Amino acid sequence: MALRTYYILLFILAFPAVLSGQTTYTEVVAKDGDGIYTLLRRNGLDPATHFKTFLELNKGSVGKDSSLYTGRTYLLPEAMPPGREEAKPENTGTAAVNTPATTSTATEAKNPTAPNILEIPLFGKKYARLEVKSQQLKGAVYYLVSGHGGPDPGAVGNYGPYLLGEDEYAYDVTLRLARALMEHGATVYMIIQDPDDGIRDENILELDVDEICYPDEAIPYSQKERLRQRTRAVNNLYLKHKGAYQRMLAIHIDSRSKGQNIDVFFYHHENSPSGKKMAESIHQTITAKYNRYQPNRDYFGNVSPRSSLYVVKYSHPPAVFIELGNIRNDRDQRRFVLPDNRQALANWITEGILADYNSR
Ligand SMILES: [Zn+2]
Repeated sequence: MALRTYYILLFILAFPAVLSGQTTYTEVVAKDGDGIYTLLRRNGLDPATHFKTFLELNKGSVGKDSSLYTGRTYLLPEAMPPGREEAKPENTGTAAVNTPATTSTATEAKNPTAPNILEIPLFGKKYARLEVKSQQLKGAVYYLVSGHGGPDPGAVGNYGPYLLGEDEYAYDVTLRLARALMEHGATVYMIIQDPDDGIRDENILELDVDEICYPDEAIPYSQKERLRQRTRAVNNLYLKHKGAYQRMLAIHIDSRSKGQNIDVFFYHHENSPSGKKMAESIHQTITAKYNRYQPNRDYFGNVSPRSSLYVVKYSHPPAVFIELGNIRNDRDQRRFVLPDNRQALANWITEGILADYNSR
């Protein structure tokens, strides 16, 4: 949802309740270490739905980077009447937002009548529901880190009267990739999350700044801190899943000079044969797709080591860094502006990942 629309809605919804004196807001006290997401989740509220309302309600009591003060009282957004969507048990929201990834066991527990159906609010209304069609990636854990976000849009390209932000397009492809991997039974963590942008089928994706880093941290301004933060999130989860097959993918749409069409480039750590293998597998799949669907198009993507990339260097799981193209190049822009093309990229990367996992 566009930021503006959201605030208008919020105004309409929240204002009358306060004015009429029918205070439906529950008061809770923040515990040590609480963030907004944690607090909402503990109270059975889906953070993706209620984050912004919470901020509105508690204006003045929220610190820098959306932090909460231990011991302070906060108002919770109104809970939905019983029987409505939001009135689910706490753990449903937790699994869905934080871990758009759920093992089939957890799914069965949630929804015994349809064990293969998952409901992931982070994917947005239209795409929230997904069917787990195979278990080919069962046991595999993927950390998907879409580039930039929060105060940093990444590269910005001009497209007619519009500005195309790298972070928005990378995020959309990354969400589609997460969904496709989950359809094959993978456990997937979206490390960068936008509570109100699901998968979007528009050509122009509006730039916003409300992305957060897993589990619920505001994204800092400093580039170094940003990279540290997301790498730390991945590495903490890596410990939690110790012993499992784990991979990290960073997804960017970078910019070089305007004219340069950079296609899809893959980077891995020079000392990581597993990272290299996954990069090559995805590269081969994409090359084969281009040969099949666009035989007259030159495709220049390649795989190379680039150990100096922060997230590649410091990620504990083997990592692949993907540059999906040049957001300032006219021809590359078409690849991102069309939602079908974003979906195709996500599907092709998934095929490459499946090939890599099956040959482990
Ligand atoms: Zn980038």
